[in-house]
Amino acid sequence: MTKHHPRAISRVMPAGSHGLPLVAIVGRPNVGKSTLFNRLARKRIAIVHDEPGVTRDRHYADTSAFGRDYTLIDTGGFDPDSDDPMKSGITRHVKSAIEEADVIVFVSDAEVPLTSADRVAIALLRKSKNPVIYAANKADSPKMDADAFELYRLGVDKVHPISGLHGRGIGELEASIIAALPAKTEPGDDHEGLLPRISIVGKPNAGKSSMMNRILGEDRMIVDSRPGTTRDAIDALVERNGKRYIFVDTAGLRKKGKVTKASDTVETASVGLAVKAMERSSVIVLMCDAAEGVAEQDAKILGLANDRGRGMIIALNKSDLLSKEQIAKAEEAARDKISFAPFAPVVLVSAKTGRGSAELFKKIDAVASAFHARVPTGELNRFFEQVLETRPPPTMGGRAPRLYYITQAETAPPTFVVISSSPDSVHFSYQRFVVNQLRQHFGFEGVPIRVVYRERR
Ligand code: GDP
Ligand code: GDP
Repeated sequence: MTKHHPRAISRVMPAGSHGLPLVAIVGRPNVGKSTLFNRLARKRIAIVHDEPGVTRDRHYADTSAFGRDYTLIDTGGFDPDSDDPMKSGITRHVKSAIEEADVIVFVSDAEVPLTSADRVAIALLRKSKNPVIYAANKADSPKMDADAFELYRLGVDKVHPISGLHGRGIGELEASIIAALPAKTEPGDDHEGLLPRISIVGKPNAGKSSMMNRILGEDRMIVDSRPGTTRDAIDALVERNGKRYIFVDTAGLRKKGKVTKASDTVETASVGLAVKAMERSSVIVLMCDAAEGVAEQDAKILGLANDRGRGMIIALNKSDLLSKEQIAKAEEAARDKISFAPFAPVVLVSAKTGRGSAELFKKIDAVASAFHARVPTGELNRFFEQVLETRPPPTMGGRAPRLYYITQAETAPPTFVVISSSPDSVHFSYQRFVVNQLRQHFGFEGVPIRVVYRERR
């Protein structure tokens, strides 16, 4: 799979010649392109890294995300300080990327304001017929996201605040890349990219392996096992009642048995594995022992899923061991613990007896479809007019911001943009109100909703 050809972008094989679409990373030097490249190329490229004298090999790799393969190119970056008239250097670079690639990932540095070189590049990219995905890198924490949104002022539709270094926002970026790839045309294509991808995560002994075995035993597993995006992860494609699901392997879920004691190291490791699995999933099923309830670590994992905009379900397992009263208590305690995500459904299950399996799958269907749901624009604006009529935005700093209209900029996860006269003066509590209204009207069960406020351009 790994390609080691040191090619300049202009000499790269045209898309499709070996079946894979091309994704090009462009941006100024030092914004973090190679870091992002390595992150997206995953382990495959780390091997190349260790060999001396072949640094150019880093610029070209076959990789995959959400079950879809593509070829990634690091274009090396345009040089804003070259002796060339600045613009022509950038122009040449960006134009060749536009010509060659199916999808372009433009990377900027969220730590510093956009430079004139960035602006020139963006102006060119906005004329590209092929999709361009904008990533503001070095947004290492949510605090940085506001800086990342500077790109919106240039008319960019969606900005991904990411940290190539720490892996933040990478799953979403990958989802956007995959969504932007040209449709596969090979016969037998089952559009796997759109199948729900589910991770079962949780503490050791919660019953994850038991549940996985039950699912794999009860339902038809179409393909025994299929390679995931990392060498040791094996994802399972499962068919149930005519619907297909991919269960993402959380490494070791099925080669279990060795780990039975919940030591500290095991717990730490399982958070890491959960996060890894999360990056490749649309729905996270957090499994807990119902008698123990949602632990700190579980809440932390759900918090991470929430940050990543993933669909979430809480499965309280081993319900066969509890009385009716105990079950009611367990459910209430779980809801208390995850008060930051009241929209996540809680399901009582038993991997042992099979109780709750049907309900669990019903919720998986609901959450997966909410994750990909798109509200028609007309409906959305009628809803928004109603909201504004019922409760207009309050004054902040002496003036009331005007909210002109709302659009759904993205699905997976659902992301809305509200165009406003003064995005910075929309009070936090009002923003929360809008999110709650969206949820009340359109559901979005189990899925975090994002609303971004942006100035009219
Ligand atoms: P390139 O020249 O665009 O390919 O950029 P590099 O990938 O070589 O990164 C330039 C510098 O930025 C390096 O010191 C990286 O460690 C750093 N860097 C890259 N990504 C991130 C990030 O997400 N956060 C932070 N804080 N630093 C980053
Ligand atoms: P994992 O570490 O999360 O994968 O948990 P396992 O699937 O290995 O389960 C841990 C223990 O709990 C095993 O002894 C299972 O037999 C038991 N167990 C799992 N699910 C249930 C259940 O629904 N009811 C009962 N009574 N025991 C269960």
